[in-house]
Amino acid sequence: MEKPILLITGGGRGIGAATAKLAARQGYQIVLNYRQDEASAQKVAKEIHQLGGQAHCIQADVSDADQVSFMFEHILHTWEPIKALVNNAGVLETQTNFAKTDLSRWQRIFNTNVFGTFLCCQSAFKHMALSQGGKGGTIVNVSSIASVYGSPNEYVDYAASKGAVDSFSKGFALEVAGDGIRVNVVRPGLIYTDMHADGGEAGRVDRIAPNLPLQRGGKPEEVAEAILWLLSDKSSYSTGSFIDVGGGR
Ligand code: NAP
Repeated sequence: MEKPILLITGGGRGIGAATAKLAARQGYQIVLNYRQDEASAQKVAKEIHQLGGQAHCIQADVSDADQVSFMFEHILHTWEPIKALVNNAGVLETQTNFAKTDLSRWQRIFNTNVFGTFLCCQSAFKHMALSQGGKGGTIVNVSSIASVYGSPNEYVDYAASKGAVDSFSKGFALEVAGDGIRVNVVRPGLIYTDMHADGGEAGRVDRIAPNLPLQRGGKPEEVAEAILWLLSDKSSYSTGSFIDVGGGR
């Protein structure tokens, strides 16, 4: 029997890459989506092959409706129907006060974090829903604990985009529960990835970590464990739920 297909958006690095490697060890066939960094996605795929797993790479900007639609159709026709989806792709921009940000920045952030998640969930619904001839499936949306505390003086716009992901995920989960699809959310806290360098402070995790209840930053692999649990049948009675992986914050 073919291994179930798991699509991970933004799977070339950070939390997406850690999730891909753990999922491959747990028996999924991985489709790694990337936007521009093909080399990193191919490197993760190679590591999975070396572990004896199966992985494919596929380029698509999740904020582009046509590219998302093409990606899902390509997966269906080339491999198998998608059984699981992790909406992990996310962006933030340089730390600053909200007053100094503008509409074009908000649009860039919302286009990927919010509308990218909407687009992939909508395509997944068409492929997974029992009412559409699908076999059901599971979705995990990667939000952020920033949705709860708002990221003042850093990225309020990013935090707000994750608030939108939280609200959307709750409503969408309840809409599709009768269609054999479970939708849950993981909200990471401060995790050691390259994202913080994109925000202009590569050492951000180490600066803030001593103030956290657990007094350290998190590893991408620790977030991956929560994602994989929510994807699995072990969480079969959970939908529309949230797991915070934030060291107590
Ligand atoms: P990361 O290392 O910056 O990686 C982000 C990935 O997203 C990259 O592989 C990038 O691909 C991909 N991506 C960005 N925009 C995309 C688009 N439009 N279409 C397709 N792929 C796109 O991020 P991370 O830290 O692992 O974060 C992963 C998720 O966790 C994000 O949703 C983030 O908001 C969330 N999160 C992270 C933290 C943290 O502390 N790291 C905390 C809370 C929440 P390319 O390189 O090919 O562009």
